[in-house]
Amino acid sequence: MRSITLIMGDGIAPEISEAVMKIVDNSGLKINWDIQTAGADLIETEGTPLPKRVLESVIKNKIALKSPVTTPIGKGFRSVNVQLRKELDLYANSRPCCSFPSIKTPYDKVDIVVVRENTEDLYAGIERQVDENTAESIKIITRDASIRIAEFAFDYAVRNNRKEVCAVTKANICKLSDGLFLNCAREVADKYSDIQFREILVDNCCMQLVQNPNQFDVLLLPNLYGDIVSDLCAGLVGGLGIAQGANIGKDYAVFEPVHGSAPDIAGKNLANPTAMLLSATEMLNYIGEKEHAIRIKNAILKTFADNIKTKDLGGQSSCSEFTDAIIERL
Ligand code: ATP
Repeated sequence: MRSITLIMGDGIAPEISEAVMKIVDNSGLKINWDIQTAGADLIETEGTPLPKRVLESVIKNKIALKSPVTTPIGKGFRSVNVQLRKELDLYANSRPCCSFPSIKTPYDKVDIVVVRENTEDLYAGIERQVDENTAESIKIITRDASIRIAEFAFDYAVRNNRKEVCAVTKANICKLSDGLFLNCAREVADKYSDIQFREILVDNCCMQLVQNPNQFDVLLLPNLYGDIVSDLCAGLVGGLGIAQGANIGKDYAVFEPVHGSAPDIAGKNLANPTAMLLSATEMLNYIGEKEHAIRIKNAILKTFADNIKTKDLGGQSSCSEFTDAIIERL
C-alpha cells in the first residue's frame, strides 16, 4: 500500500482533511496516510511549528497532501508553508483555475494556470527593522530560480496542450529584480517555438483578468505576484473553496489547496473540502492513479450538477453532507 504524508494543519484543516481521506478511501484506493501535525499549537510541546518529523516523513514518502496551517499576521513565526517549500526546494507552485459548468460566475470557460516561483522574491523572509519608524524587506530574484521556473511553465504548457505562457512582472519599476525574471523568461521562451510567449505588467494583468480572463492561458509569475494573482484567479471561477494547488520540486511534491486555514469558519462544519480534494486528485494523477483521480473529479462534477454545494458556493450543505454526497456519486 502506498504511503503518503498528510500534513495536518489547523483552522478548517481537520474537517477538510477528514473529508478528503474519506472520499479517497471510498474511491477504492487504499492509501496509508502518514498523518503529521504542524502549526502553532506545537510550539509549546515541540518548540517549532514545523517539527523535523514532518519533513522526514515527506522525504521518506516523497509525496504529501497538505492542509492549511495558520500564518500569524505581522508577528510570530515564519510561515510553515514558506519553510516547507524552502526546506524541500519545492520551487514550482502550479494553481489551475478552471470554471465548473455548475458554478455560476461572471465569466464562463475560464481556464488559467498560475505558475508561481516558490522559493525567493520577498518571501525569502529577509527583513529588518532599520529604526523605530522604518522597516526593510529584501526582494531576491536569482537567475537559476527564474530559469527553472520558466522552464517548468513552458514544460507544463507543452505537457498540457497549452498555447501560451505569459510572464507577469513589474519590470518597469523593479528593473533589476523583475527585469532579471523577465529576461530569463524571454531566454527560455526562445527554446519553445511551439508555445507563444507574451509579457504583461502585473497591474495591467489584474485589470485584464477581471475584464477579460479568457485571453489568458498559463501565467508565469515571481512569488509575491503569484500568490496575489492566484487568489484573484480563484475568485474568477468561484472562490478559494475550489482552488487547488501543487508545490513541485525535483525530488518531492506537496499538494495543497490555495486557501488558508479560514479561522472564521473553523469547527463549524461549513468548510468546502473541494479545493483540497482537487489537490488530492492532482496528486493521484502525479503518482499514476489516473483512474481514481477521474472517478473523484467526476463525482465532484456530478455533485455540483445536482446542486449540492457548500455555503461559500451559494449552497446549503455542510462539509460532511457535501462529502457524503460525493461518496454516493463515486
Ligand atoms: P493565507 O494567507 O494563510 O492563505 P488567507 O488570508 O488567504 O489565508 P483564508 O484562510 O484562505 O485567508 O480565508 C479567506 C476567506 O475565504 C475566509 O473568509 C474563509 O472563510 C474563506 N475560505 C477559505 N477557504 C475556504 C473553504 N475551503 N471553504 C469555505 N470558505 C473558505
